[in-house]
Amino acid sequence: MDKIAVQALIDYNRNRVPVSKDFMLREFECRGIQKGMTCCGGLAGVDPINLNALQKTRDYINKPLSPSSGFRCVEYNKCVGGKPASRHLVSLAVDLPCAGTGLTPDELADILLKFGVVRVAIYTELKFVHMEGYDRYTDSGVRYDRRFYVPKQEKEEEEGGSGE
Ligand SMILES: [Zn+2]
Ligand SMILES: [Zn+2]
Repeated sequence: MDKIAVQALIDYNRNRVPVSKDFMLREFECRGIQKGMTCCGGLAGVDPINLNALQKTRDYINKPLSPSSGFRCVEYNKCVGGKPASRHLVSLAVDLPCAGTGLTPDELADILLKFGVVRVAIYTELKFVHMEGYDRYTDSGVRYDRRFYVPKQEKEEEEGGSGE
């Protein structure tokens, strides 16, 4: 195979690994590579609490969910204006658009919180929820509703903010 064909095959196979019934690791990879950046080469990660909540939410609403941001390397996080201490940098945050679910960000957040997520930032205008499964101060999965609304002017990137 020529070099281009090999690269296409690598790209095709990159992170194409199931991590739960309906989710692939690819959905949680750094998006830099998909946007033509030469940052981390598509490192990926998702924490078990967020993944479990995503799968349970997907089963509950019976509609596909498409995370728009999972892991971000430092370079890509800077590029999209993510905050320096963003939990995306350590694979502890996922951005989940409402598109295709028929739910508002608030309704989606309610379901995610029910299934174990402990912290959500609700992007009402951009129609997505930034979710975290671990409390950042204790790193425990203590369940309580920490809900933040992110005003429009705090938009951090075109398809997902970093949360605080
Ligand atoms: Zn990257
Ligand atoms: Zn986020």
